[in-house]
Amino acid sequence: MRILVIGGGASGMIAALTAAENPENQVTLLERQARLGRKLAATGNGRCNLTNLNTNLSCFHGENPTFLQPALNAFGVSDTLAYFEQLGLLTVAEPSGRVYPFSDQATSVVDVLRLAIEQSNIRLEAGCEVTELYYHDDAFFAQTEERRYAADRVIVACGGMAGAKLGGTRSGYQMLKGFGHTCTKLYPALVQLKTDPTWVKSLKGVRAEADVKLFSGTEVLAETRGEVQFTEYGVSGPAIFEISRAATSTSDPLTVVLDLIPMMEQSALTALLEHKCHAFPNITLENFLTGILQNRLGRTLLRACGLKLEATCNSLKKRDLQKIADTMKAFSLPITGNMGMEQAQVTAGGIRTDEFDPNTLESKLQPGLYACGEVLDIDGDCGGLNLQWAWSSGRLAGQLKGAN
Ligand SMILES: Cc1cc2nc3c(=O)[nH]c(=O)nc-3n(C[C@H](O)[C@H](O)[C@H](O)COP(=O)(O)OP(=O)(O)OC[C@H]3O[C@@H](n4cnc5c(N)ncnc54)[C@H](O)[C@@H]3O)c2cc1C
Repeated sequence: MRILVIGGGASGMIAALTAAENPENQVTLLERQARLGRKLAATGNGRCNLTNLNTNLSCFHGENPTFLQPALNAFGVSDTLAYFEQLGLLTVAEPSGRVYPFSDQATSVVDVLRLAIEQSNIRLEAGCEVTELYYHDDAFFAQTEERRYAADRVIVACGGMAGAKLGGTRSGYQMLKGFGHTCTKLYPALVQLKTDPTWVKSLKGVRAEADVKLFSGTEVLAETRGEVQFTEYGVSGPAIFEISRAATSTSDPLTVVLDLIPMMEQSALTALLEHKCHAFPNITLENFLTGILQNRLGRTLLRACGLKLEATCNSLKKRDLQKIADTMKAFSLPITGNMGMEQAQVTAGGIRTDEFDPNTLESKLQPGLYACGEVLDIDGDCGGLNLQWAWSSGRLAGQLKGAN
């Protein structure tokens, strides 16, 4: 059978390798960019968080996240690790469950897939963008600038819109819409949030371990604990990524509230500040929070409390200490937006999953047409879940079960 895999990213590479395990298949892999796996090579800050030992259904989102259960059952985390091991990749799991290549280089993951593709009978066409896909007279046809490819089965693995500079595109959605498929609303997930810049601007580059809550009025939409990074436009870092999906999915006014001393009760913190004040009455406020918070963060919080850094500690009233403790426990930043698809790591939303068979990933509208990866309406939490979906779904689609 002639098999066409469109998209040489994470899910497309594993789909092509899987399809090529059947020697009767002639597999062609078409990739728009000059190299395979360009986005994959940039994942995990260049380290590639390829999966997570704590993967389960609750880590995934979409109109119907249970859609991914059969793919995950058939090719879960241990299967993924075994698969990469036999490709020659050494991996290491961090205590959090996140798995990385032992080399700490995302390119190692791309390389083992690329080498396996080179050794297989897969025909690779890089720098080859499919501009149109259609079905005519019992065959699929993929049009590129240079030529037209005919196939008996097609796997659309074009990814989503996120990370445009690394290859994010609408292409896959458009291709599938051509067969009558429909798309949910698309919005960025795992993305940096813009906030009122008044205080964060001076904190650019500062990192803090915090409890993070996302509020809409008094309702908590999402919460987590982890690293927050301040930027000139707002907040970033793993903890912000984790709550970002809840922030981008609504147009309601939102506030992110940071507890910057998460391990301490408010009363203990107030007592600590009172002690500091009595023990060091003559130091200026510039150094009041030294040793408790990162220096720049401490000074910014004191300014946010309306205090002058030149004043000495003995000028602080009880209500000032209370206010400082309150601000450290609940530093509020009104959200003004997000950094958009360009900067997002993943697209929330995608082609509706109820239009595909979850056991095969074959289209219910067009026999012989399959889809996998981010183009479908499934996205995962931060921490290797999106790649796990790419591996699980790519593996299942590549088995080409379904159409005869
Ligand atoms: C900066 C960044 C960091 C990330 N870090 C992580 C991480 O550490 N862990 C994690 O789990 N997830 C991470 N992700 C998300 C993860 O990379 C994606 O969810 C995953 O790559 C999706 O796989 P995919 O195969 O669906 O799409 P992609 O990997 O994006 O592959 C799609 C491919 O299709 C090609 N293509 C598109 N249209 C066409 C066309 N018309 N013709 C031919 N080819 C086409 C594209 O060029 C691309 O190579 C990160 C994303 C970004 C942007």
